[in-house]
Amino acid sequence: MARGHVKTVAILICCAPSVFGAGFQAGVARVEITPREPIWMSGYASRNHPSTGVRQALWAKSLAIESGSGRPVVIVATDLVGLPAEVADEVAARAQRQFGIERSRLLLNSSHTHTGPVVWPGLSGMFDLPPGEEQKLHTYAALLVDDLVLVIGESIKHLSPAVVSYGFGKAGFAINRREPTAKGIRIGVNPSGPTDHQVPVLLVSTPDGKTRAILFAYACHNTTLTGDFYELSGDYAGVAAAKLEAEYPETTALFLQLCGGDQNPNPRNTVELAEQHGVELAAAVDRVLGGPLTRLSGSLRTSYVVTRLKFAPQPRSAYQSDLENPKSTPAARHRATAMLQAWDAGHPVGDTPYPVQAVRFGKTLTLLALGGEVVVDYALRTHSEYPGEALIVAGYSNAVMCYIPSERVLGEGGYEVVDNMVYYGQPGPFAPGVENSVFEAIHQAMKKVSR
Ligand SMILES: [Zn+2]
Repeated sequence: MARGHVKTVAILICCAPSVFGAGFQAGVARVEITPREPIWMSGYASRNHPSTGVRQALWAKSLAIESGSGRPVVIVATDLVGLPAEVADEVAARAQRQFGIERSRLLLNSSHTHTGPVVWPGLSGMFDLPPGEEQKLHTYAALLVDDLVLVIGESIKHLSPAVVSYGFGKAGFAINRREPTAKGIRIGVNPSGPTDHQVPVLLVSTPDGKTRAILFAYACHNTTLTGDFYELSGDYAGVAAAKLEAEYPETTALFLQLCGGDQNPNPRNTVELAEQHGVELAAAVDRVLGGPLTRLSGSLRTSYVVTRLKFAPQPRSAYQSDLENPKSTPAARHRATAMLQAWDAGHPVGDTPYPVQAVRFGKTLTLLALGGEVVVDYALRTHSEYPGEALIVAGYSNAVMCYIPSERVLGEGGYEVVDNMVYYGQPGPFAPGVENSVFEAIHQAMKKVSR
């Protein structure tokens, strides 16, 4: 198959015909999504030239799970900064058309690596791109959509009898990064701020006990490598996945980013530290796999709720002055141009669509997947609202449109409230009430899958 930047498509999970009765089936597939040529990288506004090499291949990995209904749930993990709604929607529409996967049964997550390509048009306003660079990003995004559809289809095609079980571990390298200073909140380290150190693990084995897929997750930015690094990589999550795949033959390891919007790896800023954190995370997964796991049973239920989150109203003049101010950053000028266009066309941007998805595995485990760069407060509140339930609360799922601050974070201000909105091309901070709007959608999504 002639695909510019795809090097290999390895298909895993193959086992003997079913002698297992109507249990779970699983299939897993992977496709390499490393750009083939130097490309503009996402995540840091300071970057001023394209990538200079590949430290580690980037992957899209797909895990299909089905519990006897013939309607699988497909979880896709990507070594990318985040999928913009434009990409996610197209992938979902094609997956529905080609494979009959309804929207609630497809979960697209991004690791939020900051050493991956710009995923056009997400965060594209961050830079003034030199001539030719934008076209490369359009091409990459189009190939990416094809690759994601391909890998989804391959994982479904290879469904075969499987045993699926889960457990939870811990890793401690994530730290709250919202540091209070005399001048307000800045990105630093805040050892007393909230964190979520849980490491959920889902194990997929053949009926005779061979490991075939490991899905693992953590709430922490993939930002060990900072803006000075120009080699493509998956950061700590890429290291952890590669380590697990080396350790468990014929196994695909998929990483899901949880509610790590305000969490950074600590310490950070060297390749050695990305290795160290990756090794620590893989070791946490190993410990879970070595202990007792809970086996999934029952039917799969899914829901997908799209709500709208309101932004605080801004005056037109704010964008006009951003546009006219010679000291404005490229991001501020691009945001101002987009906002003024919308304003002058008679529909200023007042809100954003926001997806909340729930996947419930029988009576055992629920995977809740939230859009955007969700701060950790959402995971902590969800766990406290559903005590005693085994829950995985992912962020960076289905579409990444901006940060999603909690009410506490919104009140405190800082990057996750104000500055990121400029990079994401959103009108400004959310209006008060954003947390409850998200939770109304969470409650709806959870109710639909409960029994
Ligand atoms: Zn981020």
